Amino acid sequence: MRIDLHTHSDVSDGTQPPAGLVRAAADAGLDVMALTDHDTAAGWAEAVATAAEVGIRVVPGMEISTELDGHGVHLLAYLPDPRHPALAAELAAVLEGRNARLPATIAKLQAEGVEIEIDDVLAAVAGVPAALGRPHVADALVARGVVADRSEAFDRWLSAGRPGYVRRYAADLTTMIGVVRDAGGVTVVAHPWGRTRTPYLTAERIAALAEAGLAGIEVDHEDHTPDVRRTLRGIAGDLGLVITGSSDHHGAGKEGHGLGCNTTAPTEFERLMERAAAARRATGRPVQEEYAWTL
Ligand SMILES: [Zn+2]
Ligand SMILES: [Zn+2]
Repeated sequence: MRIDLHTHSDVSDGTQPPAGLVRAAADAGLDVMALTDHDTAAGWAEAVATAAEVGIRVVPGMEISTELDGHGVHLLAYLPDPRHPALAAELAAVLEGRNARLPATIAKLQAEGVEIEIDDVLAAVAGVPAALGRPHVADALVARGVVADRSEAFDRWLSAGRPGYVRRYAADLTTMIGVVRDAGGVTVVAHPWGRTRTPYLTAERIAALAEAGLAGIEVDHEDHTPDVRRTLRGIAGDLGLVITGSSDHHGAGKEGHGLGCNTTAPTEFERLMERAAAARRATGRPVQEEYAWTL
């Protein structure tokens, strides 16, 4: 059984529509795939409907932009009811923040002498994303010949501290763990030690998050070296957290993240789904109706 719990469609910054992504997952030999677009459930209905056609299981999820003491943390949420008022309000704030960020980013880039317009960003978008984000600006910079690829766009212009960076709203991490649980879902910290040499999420901080209701950590991710994976596996084991592995697939938008390049062990997936069922039970939601929220 092959399980990939972190993928993006063109509803956020992937390049395949949800249906195409689910078909690609079936072709890649996956049995279970979670759709985790940034801060939105907009792709769920299409993905779940396609999953039924091609005979794989899709777990509806999302990757929420949060902050812990000013440090950005991506939080994967599985099976929350997106109609839960607190969750809906947070997602709306995050999406609004991202939409407001685009014109501000363009203005900053123009002030630096980069020739780019909002229309360039719109032209670079594959589908109809719920929000335009930095990856779309990066694609526009590539199309304009300003940089060679998305990585260079982030390294030179768009990452924190670079001249085109604009801060935006992010939900509080600890609060969001509780909000997702109240919405009948479970949370997993995405790539906790990816890309940064001195990760902010130390074992102590992860322990505090576990205390607040965090269900798991994404250990097997392309941004994690073998050493990092070993250490994180140990921390997860000590705290009784679920260990997940996933591709963080973005279609053609990200190299080296092919569907199923990392997978989650079936026993760990089982534990995660048990925690989700417990959250649904605790909030008075029917356990067996985990797909009802996609309709
Ligand atoms: Zn992420
Ligand atoms: Zn992601």
